[in-house]
Amino acid sequence: MALVVQKFGGTSVGSVERIRNVAKRAIATQKEGNDVVVIVSAMSGETNRLLKLAHEVIAIPEAREMDVIAATGEQVTSALLSLAIHAEGGQARSLLGHQVKILTDGAFSKARIKTIEGSKIFSTVKKGQIAVVAGFQGVDEHGDITTLGRGGSDTTAVAVAAAIGADACEIYTDVDGVYTTDPNVCPSARKISKISYEEMLELASLGAKVLQIRSVEIAMKYGVPVHVRSSFNDSPGTWVTGEDKSLEDVVVAGVAYDKSEARVNVIGLHDKPGVVADLFSSLAEKNVSVDMIIQNATTGASDRADVTFTLATTDLVRAKPFIEEVGKRLGAQEIRYDQDVVKVSIVGLGMRSHAGIAARMFRILAAENINIQAISTSEIKVSCLVHEKYTELAVRALHDGFGLSEDKSAK
Ligand code: ASP
Ligand code: MG
Repeated sequence: MALVVQKFGGTSVGSVERIRNVAKRAIATQKEGNDVVVIVSAMSGETNRLLKLAHEVIAIPEAREMDVIAATGEQVTSALLSLAIHAEGGQARSLLGHQVKILTDGAFSKARIKTIEGSKIFSTVKKGQIAVVAGFQGVDEHGDITTLGRGGSDTTAVAVAAAIGADACEIYTDVDGVYTTDPNVCPSARKISKISYEEMLELASLGAKVLQIRSVEIAMKYGVPVHVRSSFNDSPGTWVTGEDKSLEDVVVAGVAYDKSEARVNVIGLHDKPGVVADLFSSLAEKNVSVDMIIQNATTGASDRADVTFTLATTDLVRAKPFIEEVGKRLGAQEIRYDQDVVKVSIVGLGMRSHAGIAARMFRILAAENINIQAISTSEIKVSCLVHEKYTELAVRALHDGFGLSEDKSAK
């Protein structure tokens, strides 16, 4: 007898028909002899619709009220699924965030979970009922409803699984699992059968949308095995788990790309201590996060230095005046902006133990005549900034160049 958490995303509960299928699946899992806790998202499109309604009423809605509105999407699905389980002859009970008690901090629209009480869930499943928990929502210490950020039902699922000591956390979605890269860009992309938390975290940060980043962090912290799979078939999906020997042998697990950043070149800054600190402190003060940063190596031959960095394109308009202002103060001779860039990245645990992976990446891009504008690395990731028009070419070349198109399932 196992304790299983199953999370169903928006498309998986996108219609009454689909909700019925979810009900059947949950009942089948229970009949196999498991205690079942289901976490649901809002029906697809619903959260967007709700948030838009609020914006139609007032330009800048109060965050507290936004969360009261947004949380209703999951409230509806949890009750609908519970009813669908009844209709299929099963037993179920819906539980909202404050009923479970999923206690969060008070940061509306991006709240973090502090604690989860297991007692309501345990007493529900002990009665033979399927516990249907509304994802995405919690309650803060004042009793106010909070939400966990877009995609937050993943985080509810993993955090609930950790809190109740579930044997597995299944994330049902509209894709078959985690892919070696975006199949829309690279036709030879393959489903990964097993990936480490660390790699998944990098891929999620790089824009792979299959799991909310926070959920992967929690899974890693508490060692919750996560199975990402399709709600439309029974094929096994991707297991996200701790490292093991077989995963370390994989040099590159996936290729990701991100078009959401813009590049800024600040040319001819005074080359003296504190200049870079000044530049980036003033951006940080305005809450602008910077991603890649490079400063040209100064030779001492001139008293000028160039700094290149990337930031979210959505922050660019807001940040431009500060960049201009601080740039001028620090002696910048010219500042250039470029939005037509893409960051392509390779991610893999094996990079820790294999030398020359970055060099191989640069050679693959060079062979396609793709110029690299900036580079950043971490222990298990190398990212290159290139012109946006090369997105598909770069992703395909790297994917095939690192042998990801080949079927390694035999391994
Ligand atoms: N319904 C929320 C969203 O659309 C949370 C979720 O589905 O995970 O972001
Ligand atoms: Mg999602």
